Amino acid sequence: MTSGLQPRRLTSPQDLVEAGLAEPERLRELEAVARRYAIGLTPALAALIRPGDPADPIARQFVPDPRELIRDPAERDDPIGDDAMSPVKGLVHRYPDRVLIKLVAVCAVYCRFCFRREQVGPGSGSLSAADFAAALDYIRAHAGIWEVILTGGDPLTLSPRRIAEATQALAAIDHVKVLRWHTRLPVAAPERVSKAVARALMAEGKTTVVAVHANHPRELTESARFACRRLTAEGAMLVSQSVLLKGVNDDPETLIDLMRAFVEARVKPYYLHHGDLAPGTTHWRVPIARGQELMRALRARLSGLATPTYMLDIPGGHGKAPIGPQWIQCGGDREHVVTDPQGIQHVYTDRLGADS
Ligand SMILES: *Cc1c(COP(=O)(O)O)cnc(C)c1O
Ligand code: SF4
Repeated sequence: MTSGLQPRRLTSPQDLVEAGLAEPERLRELEAVARRYAIGLTPALAALIRPGDPADPIARQFVPDPRELIRDPAERDDPIGDDAMSPVKGLVHRYPDRVLIKLVAVCAVYCRFCFRREQVGPGSGSLSAADFAAALDYIRAHAGIWEVILTGGDPLTLSPRRIAEATQALAAIDHVKVLRWHTRLPVAAPERVSKAVARALMAEGKTTVVAVHANHPRELTESARFACRRLTAEGAMLVSQSVLLKGVNDDPETLIDLMRAFVEARVKPYYLHHGDLAPGTTHWRVPIARGQELMRALRARLSGLATPTYMLDIPGGHGKAPIGPQWIQCGGDREHVVTDPQGIQHVYTDRLGADS
């Protein structure tokens, strides 16, 4: 390593080759992928990669793969149907009590399985002041909006000043009670989750939630945990988001370690997402039956505190649904068969009062 130089963010196939994270022979095929999808890998995550292991679960998430250019006919540019539910630019209103705002299209890292991969990337910019003002008008005009989800891209890549502006503008709307920020920054660039950023997220009288995206237990380093601690110290509630990914976390041990690591970092496991039908992601997908089997293993072995919900975002904008596994089969009116964590079935009968 050259003396005194800080490691920098890797953003091209050449960078990956120079960092020893890709074979020079692969340069051409990586460049073909890079022409289509952005590359981004921060020093914090690059440092976790064990060089020379092509199956490394961190490397797999960020080093391009030629299979990204293979498109399954069912895959869509807008896999969860955001566009149809977007009344003003950058805002998605799918559920009555909450809206989502895409504040910025850039991320600190570019995950190869990203469900918004057709939209995110450097140069895609952030929501203009006029578009943000229009989103605020829309929220003001809809008194049923209780929660605003700020996402992108990664909205924590914005400066503390920009974050505080968004926070304060939203907090000024009386009926908005909860601000939820979706981010990978505590893991991707923990040093950037400064006290100033943590403070910028908070607003008097409102609840701030930060949904932290991580997929492998190794991502929750000491620095990442420290970043989470900065957020909780200022008063944020932390929840997790992970994607079930083939070759990264599709085994019970890894998922158990990941969920425990979240709780140890004061992050409540929230969602384990089934992979969306984003273009060029067939090589990432795990069958739902396998996902359910993994969830059964988690339920049998993990504290309820550490157990996430397994979710599918139904293609076409129909919303998210928990996809099991099922623990109960409802028979007739009152007779049910319920499965215990060891897989043994029991009959449970509703016992109700005479007047029901
Ligand atoms: C995922 C999503 C939400 C949040 O859903 P929760 O189940 O509350 O986490 C809200 N709006 C849109 C458009 C979404 O895609
Ligand atoms: S951080 Fe989120 S939005 Fe950004 S590339 Fe990864 S999955 Fe996509």
